Amino acid sequence: MKIAIIGSGMAGLACAARLSKAGLPPTVYDKGRGLGGRMATRRVEGGLQFDHGAQTIPCEDSAFCTLLEDARASGHVADWDMGDGTPKAVGTPGMTALAKYLAQGLDLYQQTEITSVTQTGAGWDLTADHAVGTYDRVICTAPAPQTGKLVGHALTDTLDHVAYAPSLTLMVALNRPLDAPDTQANPTDALAWIAHDSAKPGRPSQYCWVTQASAEWSVTHLELSKDEIAARMLDLFLTHHGLEATDVAYATAHRWRYALITHPLGQSFVTSPDGTLYAGGDWCLGPHIEHAWRSGTAIAQDILRAA
Ligand SMILES: Cc1cc2nc3c(=O)[nH]c(=O)nc-3n(C[C@H](O)[C@H](O)[C@H](O)COP(=O)(O)OP(=O)(O)OC[C@H]3O[C@@H](n4cnc5c(N)ncnc54)[C@H](O)[C@@H]3O)c2cc1C
Repeated sequence: MKIAIIGSGMAGLACAARLSKAGLPPTVYDKGRGLGGRMATRRVEGGLQFDHGAQTIPCEDSAFCTLLEDARASGHVADWDMGDGTPKAVGTPGMTALAKYLAQGLDLYQQTEITSVTQTGAGWDLTADHAVGTYDRVICTAPAPQTGKLVGHALTDTLDHVAYAPSLTLMVALNRPLDAPDTQANPTDALAWIAHDSAKPGRPSQYCWVTQASAEWSVTHLELSKDEIAARMLDLFLTHHGLEATDVAYATAHRWRYALITHPLGQSFVTSPDGTLYAGGDWCLGPHIEHAWRSGTAIAQDILRAA
């Protein structure tokens, strides 16, 4: 059986790893340069690095906790002591490490944006800027609005009531140490999270910080240019810490239009009436990496059950 997965975030990789393990290796396509989707690490000039998407990896489901334990044993996950007495799991040396752990041995094509998924007598034809192939099963794990546009016409359920909060994120490198806690939750009305990224385990020793705007501030400022978002968030960050512009070595912003699920679908995945096209991701079950993993794993199990 030929299987294609759209998306190399946690849902797509969880599904791909499970199928591969059962002897049905799929082909995975992603439009991004790096693995992991919103479990993201940005590396820029000067060796700077920032986890500008997900910050930590909470686990509740015992199978997902076991995956984290295995990834911890192989050095892809470590505990970050944030000073609150409860260490949190993070990818190491960056949040994408867990994606890299799952992706080992998979057939992956990055920088390949799937632009159409069409059913023919032979299966599902996938197109990017060229025809990429015909598959017996296709699994789309893009965020719900993008999934709706790409394959919504073929699904039994509507994804219209799935809702996300956006997140505007600032990455700042300082040229000196900052006397502040490594993490601050809701330090101001506008800023929901500030983290000393370089304090996480396995990072290069730098003064790299990540701050996320509150959902409300993000909604209000979502359509500003990235430079304007960076300028405004930097101003908030510097004012909060009593810093000067001369303390800043590097700053840039990222706009996550679909960041955190506020209203999930409430089921593990959706399919086409004939059960050959699947869609899933965190948007099915909740706002965390684990929810994406559970959705991707459930799709793989459904395919294996029917195979
Ligand atoms: C700022 C921020 C902070 C967060 N903090 C946390 C946290 O601390 N802890 C936590 O557990 N979760 C956190 N999350 C949520 C977590 O990152 C997500 O729940 C999880 O990563 C979603 O995985 P996914 O596979 O469902 O989707 P994604 O990671 O979005 O993966 C979807 C993939 O599909 C690809 N794609 C989309 N369309 C196409 C196409 N047409 N063709 C090819 N590829 C395509 C995308 O490039 C992407 O790689 C955070 C998210 C953000 C943005």
